[in-house]
Amino acid sequence: MAKLGFIGLGNMGGPMAANLVKAGHQVTVFDLSAEALKQLEAHGAVAADNVSDVCAGADFVISMLPASKHVRMIYTGEDGLINYLEKSTLVIDCSTIDAESAQFVGNTLAQAGIAFVDAPVSGGVAGAAAGTLTFIVGGSDADFNKAQTVLNDMGKNIFHAGAVGAGQVAKICNNMLLSILMAGTSEALQMGVDHGLDPKVLSEIMLNSSGRNWTLELYNPCPDVLENVPSSNGYKPGFMVDLMAKDLGLAMQAAQQTNSATPMGALAKNLYNLMQNQGSGSEDFSAIFKLYSQKQ
Ligand code: NAD
Repeated sequence: MAKLGFIGLGNMGGPMAANLVKAGHQVTVFDLSAEALKQLEAHGAVAADNVSDVCAGADFVISMLPASKHVRMIYTGEDGLINYLEKSTLVIDCSTIDAESAQFVGNTLAQAGIAFVDAPVSGGVAGAAAGTLTFIVGGSDADFNKAQTVLNDMGKNIFHAGAVGAGQVAKICNNMLLSILMAGTSEALQMGVDHGLDPKVLSEIMLNSSGRNWTLELYNPCPDVLENVPSSNGYKPGFMVDLMAKDLGLAMQAAQQTNSATPMGALAKNLYNLMQNQGSGSEDFSAIFKLYSQKQ
């Protein structure tokens, strides 16, 4: 069993750290929230008073923070972890951030002799609690192999996308495609409904035709086509509009870096920003269906 430091005990990090304790690891945790620390103590983790305490003797330091600025600050900012990490520690950042920031942190730590992988996740809060997350890892072969030994205790599928930063790129490629599929599926379903079709019948037809896709099959955005999905539960998340909008912002940033053409992704980003402006930021991302279905 390993000695682990874990920073960022929010909706995702809290249950992830709890699963590491459950797997038998010795886990020292840190968060700015005293309440979050208390909850993890109740699971058997040791609460650190400051960020440097998570580094002492740690085989791995794992972070699950809101955004790029937090990750840059925690590792490479003034009094950052770079000053306290041991050379034998592998740093695993699971936050969803831009690839450039992941590379910056990875390179800065590498110059101090400390290994780093980016390992953003897919699977949401339910996957974090159930220990069934998908991890998409960027880093060297050796660091990927080492990271797997603890990622296995929080997830089910662990992919090696490439070098440091590649995990973040693969994750936002997937989420950009997901948003486009969700918007397109909503658009097609509503056009059928406008013409008097039953959305259940139309979904069945498209599922057995070339329009078949994950959103139609498992996360149908039209209410009451499927049970136990956010659309049939008042669009309660699930995966929030705010988080999809964040990921699409990262996707556009990545596209700009390489001059990649992403017209569909740009449109999806605008639609999700529109939803945020309309006050739907905390609804599930399948609520985009309402942009098409709610007519004045
Ligand atoms: P969250 O806001 O619930 O949790 C973030 C935690 O980080 C909070 O507890 C906060 O107190 C802590 N924190 C912030 N700054 C800190 C600092 N300087 N030192 C210590 N702790 C600090 O966020 P979340 O939903 O857990 O998401 C975390 C990351 O996971 C994000 O990058 C998000 O995009 C990604 N993600 C979230 C989901 C989801 O469904 N929530 C799914 C996939 C990926």
